[in-house]
Amino acid sequence: MKYNWSIIGHEKQLKQIEADVSSGNLAHAYLLAGPNSVGKHTVSRKLAGILQCENNFCHKCKTCIQIQQGNHIDTVELRDNKESIKLGDVKKLVERAMMTGQSRYKIFLIQSVERMTVEATNSFLKILEEPPAGTVFILTTNNIRGLLPTLVSRVRVIKFSSVSATYLADKLKELYPDRSDATIRQASLLSLGKTGKAIHLMENPDSLANYLKVYNDVQNFLRIKNRVDRFSYVEDIAADQRQVDVFLNILTHVLRSKVLEGDGNTEKHVKTLSKIEEAGMFLKKNINVRLVLENLMLSL
Ligand SMILES: [Zn+2]
Repeated sequence: MKYNWSIIGHEKQLKQIEADVSSGNLAHAYLLAGPNSVGKHTVSRKLAGILQCENNFCHKCKTCIQIQQGNHIDTVELRDNKESIKLGDVKKLVERAMMTGQSRYKIFLIQSVERMTVEATNSFLKILEEPPAGTVFILTTNNIRGLLPTLVSRVRVIKFSSVSATYLADKLKELYPDRSDATIRQASLLSLGKTGKAIHLMENPDSLANYLKVYNDVQNFLRIKNRVDRFSYVEDIAADQRQVDVFLNILTHVLRSKVLEGDGNTEKHVKTLSKIEEAGMFLKKNINVRLVLENLMLSL
């Protein structure tokens, strides 16, 4: 690899980006698409660093540090704040793109671009069609199917996916040689192949302990056959949004393992997994957590 990305996995994707940069075939807009916590936003910041740093992406200069911290003047971030990106936001972005910059490029990182309203997207498409020279848009999404096809057709799509637990465990071992095998095994399993999540779990023992607790809870939960008891369990976790995400992640993990093991209920598990994915989408749209979970319980 030409640059020091400090990222686990995604070698194919990073090599593609490097090839674009070094061959002068840089797209004016990239869309990094794939599941949450695999490192899409991290990659977008690093790509910005590669483009802006005048010292071969040194990680040390003011530019590199400011981009890493998200406060570089010509690397504008629209972070996912769970709110939609409206027409007014895009207009501000266009104004900023038109202004003269002080850096090599003017880069816009738009996280979770699926938050853009249709009206905003239509306005955004115009600048994508005729971007000011030196402008690069780096968009991320975990829901490429939720984007307008006209948007997708005007960006260079790079797809990211999760990595295998074994691969992750090997990489974690390299990064954290002093940690116990048990911790590494737990973090690589419970992160569901998501590299960003795995590192988070390694760095935050409380989170890892919580994941393990929920893991045990999920096992117990699946043993409950009585619908009333399941509903009351769900009511407990619905009170804490963060716990809901953990619960759904781990439920996904447990069911996927069951599918891989072939416990005879594959069809049922696959159906539930797609319901969990759907529930995740509803939760992103701020639909009542309890309703979403109860609905999910009905399909279990
Ligand atoms: Zn630098």
